[in-house]
Amino acid sequence: CGIVGYTGASAAEPILVEGLSRMEYRGYDSAGVAIQQGAAIEVVCRKGKVSELAHTLEHFDFTGTCGIGHTRWATHGKPSEANAHPHTSCAGDIAVVHNGIIENFAELREELIGRGHQFKSETDTEVVAHLVEEAYQRMRAENSGDLRAAVAEAVGRLVGAYGLAVMADGEPGTIVTCRKDSPIVVGRGQQGSYVASDIIAMIDATRDVVVLADDQMARLTPDGIEYFDLEGNAIVPEATHVDWDI
Ligand code: GLU
Repeated sequence: CGIVGYTGASAAEPILVEGLSRMEYRGYDSAGVAIQQGAAIEVVCRKGKVSELAHTLEHFDFTGTCGIGHTRWATHGKPSEANAHPHTSCAGDIAVVHNGIIENFAELREELIGRGHQFKSETDTEVVAHLVEEAYQRMRAENSGDLRAAVAEAVGRLVGAYGLAVMADGEPGTIVTCRKDSPIVVGRGQQGSYVASDIIAMIDATRDVVVLADDQMARLTPDGIEYFDLEGNAIVPEATHVDWDI
């Protein structure tokens, strides 16, 4: 239902929690964040309110400056902590948040289980984490691609609607996002790069945003945002200035 992501000079956790709170009006049943903490991706999810997630996060000491967060409105799999996003791959090296519905997830899940993947949730979303992991590991072994290329390959298998934000522990400080029939907005603030499914989540940081079109991708790093089509060609998308007050 709600996606937020940040990579920059500041600690990610408060930015993610604030962004999720801003999107609470959309409705949701659970919330979670994934934060790059040292060499690992740490995931914390809670059923219920963003305030409960925030309370749980007080028990951790996350200082990482790159992370993604989600408020979930369950479509496949009951509302629960296990089904809350972010979802991770088997090795926990990939984290994914997703809005929308992957219509062919059942076939993809069977296929992935046949190749040895173990699933931790009942969601349609989790197939994305495993597909990205497979592509990413193969590309890294062959030295033939990066997280952006792995996400592009994975979404090539998807039928349905998606707004996605993805991180890999092998690419610290990087968030890859793309969309089809589900909104994604990206923007640069003074302290870093932001992604969200709703401008309201980043409005304090920037008013100059790019609303991604279907099949466009963005790679966010602390220093900037690059845009691509699904073949990996650089593109220059249209920028939007938001001048309304909140
Ligand atoms: N279909 C996904 C799920 O049920 C995402 C739902 C959403 O957009 O929040 O987990």
